[in-house]
Amino acid sequence: MRIILFGPPGVGKGTQAKLLSKKFRVRHISTGDILREAVAHETELGRKAKSSMDEGRLVPDEIMIALIRDVITDPRSKDGFILDGFPRTLTQAEALEELFQELRISLNIVINIEVKEEEIVHRLSSRWMCRNCRRIYSELVDSVPSDRRCPKCGGELYQRKDDKPETVRHRLNVYMQSTLPIKEFYRKKGLLVDVNGMGDVRSVTDRILSLLNHERP
Ligand code: AMP
Repeated sequence: MRIILFGPPGVGKGTQAKLLSKKFRVRHISTGDILREAVAHETELGRKAKSSMDEGRLVPDEIMIALIRDVITDPRSKDGFILDGFPRTLTQAEALEELFQELRISLNIVINIEVKEEEIVHRLSSRWMCRNCRRIYSELVDSVPSDRRCPKCGGELYQRKDDKPETVRHRLNVYMQSTLPIKEFYRKKGLLVDVNGMGDVRSVTDRILSLLNHERP
């Protein structure tokens, strides 16, 4: 299974990818999580990516393309993966296509999750992440503990710097300008399917699952 979860920040790609990766036992590849970990560990990749991330800009294509090559050629990706946050530019989509050709693998489907813009800003400003296990909690649906500790692993819950409303608006503009054209790229290939991302997590998962049963070869 090789899937791309596509859509602007805040539509629930990370949440859905985690659930699907558990269900289908395939790797969840979140380029945002990989970069945040690199920043936390102050690696060379982290140093290169930090300022772009803090300001809600995209990390340069050449860095991201080298990163995705490493991750996809890693043995842990052999049985499939769910891509969350990559590709984000046409250049990245084309590079991914070339990499797939080189490895003689193909994509099953690109799931485009759709949510209204005002809901996105609202969702992101209510989002908390666990620094340890990367679980995502939302004040809108979960009771986020007042001691800000993750109920699953005890790790520290924090709000992402780039989830501030002004940075979110900037990220949405970046999405409209740089990422949206990818939709047509995959639509023309017959790989893109739209899913309504409004409503609770479970309903969205169910919509995706019924689509996968339908679409999976
Ligand atoms: P995310 O967690 O997917 O919202 O990603 C957080 C941030 O990481 C983005 O706002 C970008 O700065 C950076 N990032 C993640 N994936 C990519 C990508 N494919 N291309 C460029 N920048 C990325």
